[in-house]
Amino acid sequence: MASEQIENYLKNIYKLSANESKVTTSSLSEKLQISPASVSEMIKKLAEEGTLTHTPYKGVELTEEGKKLALQIIRKHRLWEMFLVEVLHFGWDEIDHEAERFEHIMSDKMEEKIDHVLGHPLIDPHGDPIPTKDGKIYCSMSYPLDEAKEGSTVKVLRVSDSNSEMLQYISSIGISLNKEILVKQKMKFDNSMLITIDTKDINISATITQNIFVESM
Ligand SMILES: [Zn+2]
Repeated sequence: MASEQIENYLKNIYKLSANESKVTTSSLSEKLQISPASVSEMIKKLAEEGTLTHTPYKGVELTEEGKKLALQIIRKHRLWEMFLVEVLHFGWDEIDHEAERFEHIMSDKMEEKIDHVLGHPLIDPHGDPIPTKDGKIYCSMSYPLDEAKEGSTVKVLRVSDSNSEMLQYISSIGISLNKEILVKQKMKFDNSMLITIDTKDINISATITQNIFVESM
């Protein structure tokens, strides 16, 4: 069994459990794009190895050991993303799939050097927290832009990294981390939003407002 495959399971179970009350075989199958039958089989193997538990009531849950391994791989992924942007000047829309491959082969020594060169960053280029070496994770109090009140000014703390075309579009309209956005008008009929960035008015779709995370000013 390839360790890369195991690492991807643990990482995605960790990510799903942050957003969903219960991680199921089907939610995992959807996220990994692997058939439910193969996912069940793998879950059984991982339960035997002691990195997760699977019960009908609680679904799939990582054990302390499983969580530690998941956070290690997420740390490598996000440090590598940061390195690609800060040192190699990649755009934030180009880095996720690059880091997807590198997270599995980065040695602990390389991880340490990159962390040092970057000055021990706490967040990655998308605003996602980078877990510390001992597995602590810094959480910001952000909420999705679609929940911001009309007339309020908010600051961008995090952007979903799930779609690179969307990231490209978001930067093309002038949105980056720490940018201030004025919520000018919320359209009730389609949930789009009229916002002002750098004195420019732009209408953005509900998909975008749900994928940008902000704090109140
Ligand atoms: Zn990221």
